[in-house]
Amino acid sequence: MSDICIFCRIAKKEIPSEVLYEDEHSVAFLDIDPLFPGHTLLVPKQHSETLTDLPSVQIAPIFEAAQLLTRAVEAAMDAGGSFLGINNRVSQSVPHLHIHIVPRRRKDGLRGFFWPRRKYETDRHASETAQAIRDKITELRAVKP
Ligand code: 5GP
Ligand code: ZN
Repeated sequence: MSDICIFCRIAKKEIPSEVLYEDEHSVAFLDIDPLFPGHTLLVPKQHSETLTDLPSVQIAPIFEAAQLLTRAVEAAMDAGGSFLGINNRVSQSVPHLHIHIVPRRRKDGLRGFFWPRRKYETDRHASETAQAIRDKITELRAVKP
């Protein structure tokens, strides 16, 4: 996979990018087509397609890096805040996990993240939805080492 994966190739410096940060597990670089200047992508060095594919030992290190980068991007861009996002398969244009770190300011015109909301049809619909997810968490925790 890594021979053809663009983010594996960026992580290995085979393709140039504006690298911002690197550690044992991850690399961060400027998005080539940013929502705003400073829009950063943080990727694991080891190819994983989505968050659910990432080995659990890499979860804490990559989110520690995300926290550091969020602080740095907000401060360097003099931003009021930030948006962090991960597309998993749907809307994911590069099939190598990447965390978007986007500096934000009030009234910055970023409307793409404001999806139409829909209320639960009934309280029962909400409680059944919640229960389905709780049951799945219990099931997943039982099989996880
Ligand atoms: P996605 O749509 O998968 O959530 O985000 C992929 C992101 O990767 C996009 O924001 C896009 O601009 C960025 N991107 C795609 N190809 C390259 C590249 O070759 N270099 C860099 N630096 N960013 C890229
Ligand atoms: Zn890859």
